[in-house]
Amino acid sequence: MAIPAPHHPARPATPMPTSVAPVGGTPRRILVVEDERDLAEMLSYNLSRAGYQPTVAADGQRALQLAQANPPDCVILDLMLPGVPGLEVARVLRETPSTTSIPILMLTARAEEADELAGLAAGADDYVTKPFSVKVVLARVEALLRRAPVHAGAPGAAASGGGGTVTLGQVVADLDQHTITSAGDSVKLTLTEFKLLVALMGSPRRVLSRNELIAKVMGPGVIVTSRTIDVHIAAIRKKLGDPGNQIRTIRGVGYQMSAEPHAEEQAEA
Ligand code: CA
Repeated sequence: MAIPAPHHPARPATPMPTSVAPVGGTPRRILVVEDERDLAEMLSYNLSRAGYQPTVAADGQRALQLAQANPPDCVILDLMLPGVPGLEVARVLRETPSTTSIPILMLTARAEEADELAGLAAGADDYVTKPFSVKVVLARVEALLRRAPVHAGAPGAAASGGGGTVTLGQVVADLDQHTITSAGDSVKLTLTEFKLLVALMGSPRRVLSRNELIAKVMGPGVIVTSRTIDVHIAAIRKKLGDPGNQIRTIRGVGYQMSAEPHAEEQAEA
C-alpha cells in the first residue's frame, strides 16, 4: 500500500522569515501638487498613514521638476496653482515620455463641469471636487494605482504575439508596453483611455454601457459621471484618427467597438 508523500518537503534548518514587508515592496510614491499648505499637509499626512510615500510640490513648476527627476506612481494635482496652472502641468506630464502614463487625480475647486472636462481633456484620469473627504481621495488614488497593470482577458479579439497584443480592425493594443497602434501609427493615450480602449477591444460587437466601462476601468466603488466616459471616448476617437470610427455610440446605451469602421460616426466625436 502506497504511503502518500508528505505534503511539504522537510523544512530547511533555518526557518524562512515570516513576511513582514508589504506586498509589492517599496511604498508607492504620490506627488501632491497643492499650493494651499494646510490641504497639502493634510493630504500628505493621510497618504503616509495609508502606507504611501507622499511628496509635496507647492507650485506647477516644482511639480514638473520633481515628476521628471523621479517619476511618481500617481499625481494628485490641484487645478488652481500659482505660476504653471494645473491643466498645463497635466499636459506636460502627458507629453513627456517618462511621465506619460502616470495616473493623475485632479482636484478642482469649483463644482463646475467645465473645469472637470478640461482636466480630463488635459490628461487627468479622474477628478475630485473640493471640498473633498480624505477617504474619497484615498479611494480614488488606490483605484488609479490598482488599475495600473492591464490584464489581457480579451475574448473575441485576435490575440497575437504571445498574447501580449490585442488586434481589432486597424487598432493594435500592446498590453505589456501599454502602447496603441492605429492604422500603423503609434498613438499616445492616457492610462484611462488605454484601459477604456482595451475594454472595448476585448468585447468586440458587444455594447458596453457607460457603467460597465466605468466599472472596468475605474475599479469598484469609484463614482464618476457617465459624461467622464464620453469625454474619454471622444479623446480616444480623435487620437485614433480614421480607425476611431470603429467605436460606435449606441444612443442611450453605451459604446461598441468592432473591426469595421462606422462611417456614420464621423460627425459624432
Ligand atoms: Ca490651489
